[in-house]
Amino acid sequence: MSPSRTPIVYIISAPSGSGKSTLVNILLKLVPNLEFSISYTTRAPRGSERNGNQYHFVSREEFERMIEAEEFLEYAQFDGNYYGTARRFLREAEQKGTDLLLDIDVQGAAQIHQKIPDAVSIFVLPPDKKTLEWRLRKRGENDDQTIRRRLDTASREIEKYDCYNYVLINDRLEKSIERVEAIVVSERLRRSGRSLSEEENAIVQRAERLRLANVKEKVQPVLESFREPRPRAES
Ligand code: ADP
Ligand code: 5GP
Repeated sequence: MSPSRTPIVYIISAPSGSGKSTLVNILLKLVPNLEFSISYTTRAPRGSERNGNQYHFVSREEFERMIEAEEFLEYAQFDGNYYGTARRFLREAEQKGTDLLLDIDVQGAAQIHQKIPDAVSIFVLPPDKKTLEWRLRKRGENDDQTIRRRLDTASREIEKYDCYNYVLINDRLEKSIERVEAIVVSERLRRSGRSLSEEENAIVQRAERLRLANVKEKVQPVLESFREPRPRAES
């Protein structure tokens, strides 16, 4: 990849617990020249998180100073904390000749779509509400009130799936990884402007099946599961 080329900006959003971090971590190992944009946040580190790895953890004062100084490409408040993408990550990706992957919420995705119209956005849905609840618990979220709050937020967020270019239901992990990789590679291939081999065309076709217009029917049962009354938590 040649330096100083316009990076492709990929946005990935999902309700908390859908498996987005799992997918992103594997994707970054599989796809060369794809950099993860390490966001700034005012929330406290969780578990094994380290400053500068998953996030840059800063105070509210520092975050607000950065807003004033227009250092953010986008920022939003989520669950009482600030989260933001620094502009410098885009400049650095351009200099290095890499593409950039943003793991941001639906508010941030809308801002990026406005500023970078050809950004590629992917929304990850859990298979249904009950599975999301299991995954939240599996991840170590055991407080019922937190689970309820996350499920309520998820119910609101998933209604925004149709603001995204691609939609993926994260059912079987291996299949989801193949799919998200196909989207990333397909966008590179389509923008390369060269004629594609049969194998490359097959990747583009695989990605096309995940385009918003082609998944609308498939996502209806997922949306429905979130509209039903919350199932009783299993003991
Ligand atoms: P998120 O980043 O969206 O909050 P995580 O990646 O932390 O979610 O995943 C939440 C939990 O679900 C983790 O325990 C993870 O191992 C598990 N998980 C992720 N994807 C799948 C999948 N496709 N099938 C089963 N479990 C999954
Ligand atoms: P968490 O606290 O669970 O890591 O993240 C909460 C939410 O904030 C997730 O939806 C995540 O995608 C989102 N998020 C993380 N970084 C950013 C960012 O830089 N900007 C925006 N808008 N959202 C972010």
